[in-house]
Amino acid sequence: MSSPQRAPGGFPVVGIIGGGQLARMCAGPAAELAITLSVLAESPDAAAAQVIPSAPVGDHRDVEAVRAFARECDVVTFDHEHVPADVLAALEADGVLLHPSPAALVFAQDKLAMRRRLTEIDVACPAWAQARTASDVEEFAAQVGWPVIAKTPRGGYDGKGVRVVAGVEDLHDWLDQATLDAANGGPLAEGILLEEKVDFTRELAVLVARSPSDQAAAWPVVETVQTDGICTQVLAPAPDLDPHLAAVATEAGLRIAENLGVTGVFAVEMFEVRDPETGSPAYVVNELAMRPHNSGHWSMDGAVTGQFEQHLRAVLDLPLGAPTPREPFTVMANVLGGEYPELYPAYRHLMARDPGLKVHLYGKGVRPGRKIGHVNVSGTDLEDLRERAAHAADYLTGVITA
Ligand code: ADP
Repeated sequence: MSSPQRAPGGFPVVGIIGGGQLARMCAGPAAELAITLSVLAESPDAAAAQVIPSAPVGDHRDVEAVRAFARECDVVTFDHEHVPADVLAALEADGVLLHPSPAALVFAQDKLAMRRRLTEIDVACPAWAQARTASDVEEFAAQVGWPVIAKTPRGGYDGKGVRVVAGVEDLHDWLDQATLDAANGGPLAEGILLEEKVDFTRELAVLVARSPSDQAAAWPVVETVQTDGICTQVLAPAPDLDPHLAAVATEAGLRIAENLGVTGVFAVEMFEVRDPETGSPAYVVNELAMRPHNSGHWSMDGAVTGQFEQHLRAVLDLPLGAPTPREPFTVMANVLGGEYPELYPAYRHLMARDPGLKVHLYGKGVRPGRKIGHVNVSGTDLEDLRERAAHAADYLTGVITA
């Protein structure tokens, strides 16, 4: 494997396992700071491989490929959370600087481990249980009422490992699989995570960065707007958020990062709820992501330090940048693939219509429903920003033509 080209002047090489859009979006800040990136890419045309010259192709599950890749890097981080434990252990044994560490990463890979740890450290979570049998499910439902939410502890994303369960019969396939996996160590070997169905008012996210020297910085709490289980818009900061809730949610994000030993950018997805006793706004944690996150894309244009620059600073143990917003509001809208594969012709219309719009596309082929980019727009009038962001995203998707 050829060595990545370093900039003269003592600059490091940051390795990223996975060549998706998150790795790609590190390229701009890395270039500005003369930091060299190297990505272990899924294919030569992976999103990040298109813009990062050092992009060897390799499988993140292949121990030898990942070890050879890591040898050329000063520090290694991740585009996704799917690197298996045995590969992470081999890198750690080789002395590779991994951020986040495998010990932290397990809480983003395994939702049962996450629920257990958060409960131990008194972070508010939905009522939850581990279930292996139909009677475990019945017992939990008797406490919290139907329907319950069932989740596969490992491997879910964009709602694919999540089910709303009206009765135990809706879970027979997963319970059968759990019995099989218990014998052969498959993905449901530990059983299923059950949660009460939270009656939330909206979804929030807290995004923080933490460095190995224990410096931490938090962006303002954002609202994530979901459509059919997929995040379509992020409103930064979350409008009309109770100041006490903003403070306790941010404190929870920083406390979890420290307690779990997370390094790099870290997202905590939360539900906003009403405290059953006081009626005041409160949070419960939904899940954790240990990497730059969709809920932080707004910061690329809307904050003094964007999440991709901050992630590089954090994993290199450099002092962190200010997470301060540049404008009262930034709205991010995800661009989902539509029917039209040609995206570039849309630029002329969008750029003419809205000179304040910032477009970020990931170089991915268009497939219906696939996240292929996002747009950001900042200013003071939230409803106007939402309309402009939605228009641009819809125009790129092809659902509107003017
Ligand atoms: P994934 O890891 O696949 O993104 P999540 O755990 O984030 O899955 O769940 C996806 C969506 O399902 C959430 O954004 C939320 O809308 C809904 N959801 C998840 N857990 C609960 C819950 N306990 N109560 C109510 N809704 C939930």
